[in-house]
Amino acid sequence: MIRFENVTYRYGDGEGGISNVNLRVEKGELLAVIGPSGSGKSTLLKLLAGFMEPQSGSIWIDGKDVSGVAARHRDLGIVFQSYALFPHMTVLENVAYPLRLRGVDQAERFERASKALGEVGLSSATDRLPATLSGGQQQRVALARALVYQPKALLLDEPLSALDASLRTEMRDLITHVQRTAQIATIHVTHDQEEALSMADRIAVVHRGEILQVASPKDLYDKPFNATVAAFVGKANLWIGDVMSSTCVRTEFADIACDASDWGIGDRVNVMVRPEAIMPLTDDQNPEQAPNCFNGTLVQDRFLGAVRRYDLSVAGCVITGETGYRGSLSRISIPSDSVRLLPLQDD
Ligand code: ADP
Ligand code: MG
Repeated sequence: MIRFENVTYRYGDGEGGISNVNLRVEKGELLAVIGPSGSGKSTLLKLLAGFMEPQSGSIWIDGKDVSGVAARHRDLGIVFQSYALFPHMTVLENVAYPLRLRGVDQAERFERASKALGEVGLSSATDRLPATLSGGQQQRVALARALVYQPKALLLDEPLSALDASLRTEMRDLITHVQRTAQIATIHVTHDQEEALSMADRIAVVHRGEILQVASPKDLYDKPFNATVAAFVGKANLWIGDVMSSTCVRTEFADIACDASDWGIGDRVNVMVRPEAIMPLTDDQNPEQAPNCFNGTLVQDRFLGAVRRYDLSVAGCVITGETGYRGSLSRISIPSDSVRLLPLQDD
């Protein structure tokens, strides 16, 4: 449905922009685009929306190369972080506006706008002015307005970042529900990795204008392409290591038994372990039976409700773990199959 082929756009000073982006979004799919602030996420959407043209490469919507096609003729529904509603129009008029632009007569546009408002749970607010609505309600109006003319795709640029935490979760569910019902190709830009993991069919990770990896949430979390992706998606312990044998890697604090069979002896790697994979050992557990068992000193202990996040200092190196275990903590085990070896990066 949407395709980027080798798309490059650099801003005047050459600093910001995107380079050689290749990306596909299928009909009915929700692709999340994540990356730190300034990595090029909005640039990607602006190019797709037609607010600017790529300097090289091409963008395809529904099988057509859209270079030179004006934004209003690309038939895309767009929701930004700021709601951008017309303050002097009622909610119903706001949602009906894109239909008015397309020459739909009044009776039909109000009927379709009412239906769209029903889909986002706002039927009761049709006659109100935007200023009288909460932020969450305004964002629902913006979503209804983006969907009302059955666009070819939905583009969402950090639409939830201005909302408070509980509303954000509610809106996530609403967006995925509406998107799945309409089976509409959607690109959802966010800097919130949890939002991306919970909503997306696939996630693209952008870093300094380049796409590092596109994968399902599970694959991205379990098999990140490199340490940058690992650190951006979820939390990760990352250590430098040297491969000693097909079953052992030497880190700055200890030798760790793991599967290193894809690597050569002497290779330098990033060793990644997710915090929740680390197992605390209680006093009555026999360390001889636990793999990669280490003693350390508790240096941080944070109670976060459902989990406890702790830092254990082991031979001068800090290991972060997450557990539901409430007892005293001085010994941990790192299961071998939770250890991932990733290519070392220059920076
Ligand atoms: P994101 O949405 O991921 O935060 P953007 O796509 O907005 O990032 O911006 C990517 C980079 O391009 C940033 O470094 C930003 O400073 C730069 N940039 C964005 N818009 C412009 C512009 N109009 N002129 C010059 N540089 C820009
Ligand atoms: Mg942005």
